[in-house]
Amino acid sequence: MSGATSHFSFLAHGSRVTRNPMGKGYDALIVGGGHNGLVCAFYLARAGLKVRVLERRSVVGGAAVTEEFHPGFRNSTASYTVSLLQPKVIADMRLAERGYRVIERPIANFLPLDERRYLKIGGGLNILCEFVAVAIFIARLWPTALRSSWGAPTGQRHIAFAAIVIPFSMGILVYLIVLAASSSDPTAVPTGLLIAFDHSVFIGVITNVTFGLIFALTDDVPTEAPWLRHTVFVGMNAGLLIFLIGLIAESSVVKEIGSPIMGISILVGIGILARRLLGSNLEAVAAD
Ligand SMILES: Cc1cc2nc3c(=O)[nH]c(=O)nc-3n(C[C@H](O)[C@H](O)[C@H](O)COP(=O)(O)OP(=O)(O)OC[C@H]3O[C@@H](n4cnc5c(N)ncnc54)[C@H](O)[C@@H]3O)c2cc1C
Repeated sequence: MSGATSHFSFLAHGSRVTRNPMGKGYDALIVGGGHNGLVCAFYLARAGLKVRVLERRSVVGGAAVTEEFHPGFRNSTASYTVSLLQPKVIADMRLAERGYRVIERPIANFLPLDERRYLKIGGGLNILCEFVAVAIFIARLWPTALRSSWGAPTGQRHIAFAAIVIPFSMGILVYLIVLAASSSDPTAVPTGLLIAFDHSVFIGVITNVTFGLIFALTDDVPTEAPWLRHTVFVGMNAGLLIFLIGLIAESSVVKEIGSPIMGISILVGIGILARRLLGSNLEAVAAD
């Protein structure tokens, strides 16, 4: 869950690790007691296997470990936000009963500089400002989107598509916030919707805007065959839409159709952009 602080302290509580690496008598040995190793160990043990986790440190948790960084003060010493921890894992491992809870952060980041000065990001009117910023962004992009020629192999249509996806992404985000706020268990939001939000922003908006900008920046390079550009634009965005439908409808078949179309098209697109960036005289373009 973005904007939340993770507490994996249950991993460290009383979990001193045995330093005997002998694997005799075990069905599975897991090297590394980070959260992935521990979750694997849990599922294997639950399936009836005899499992041993080998951890080189004196505490488990890996980069998600909670440690005392100053006498009396404990924190996650590396990772700090819960990203894609699956609700199923939380439920299967009965993490809430073992002390797991998600703590919403009132601010995004706090960086002390010296005794008096600090850098604080987020908090207060932050979310409201972000919504206003997105509204301004949409208002500026939509006229371009409406004017865009969808059939022409230009970078403009990537930006136009991003402009259309933004309100959709914001809709999912608002729905997720309402769902989490109105639920007794804020972590129990549908994983499919979280991933749909994530992909609509990263592919639908950020990747399309990046592609659009790079195509515009490198228009001094001879253009590729139009069918190649169409393949990238249509494949990436149609694949994304199919993948999003699969996520929202919780259909593995639909996801498995959309995901490779989207992935392969993006890879082809990255290849095209790399060729354009290498061949472009960017300094001259910037000087113009
Ligand atoms: C500074 C930092 C900040 C991050 N912030 C975030 C965040 O905010 N949100 C987020 O979702 N993710 C974040 N991540 C990523 C996240 O922490 C990792 O994806 C996650 O910890 C990976 O888990 P893991 O179990 O696969 O591996 P790790 O957590 O890396 O655990 C691997 C374990 O294996 C042990 N090990 C390694 N080699 C051996 C060996 N030969 N023998 C025995 N044991 C061994 C290590 O000691 C360690 O305990 C961050 C990562 C870092 C480094």
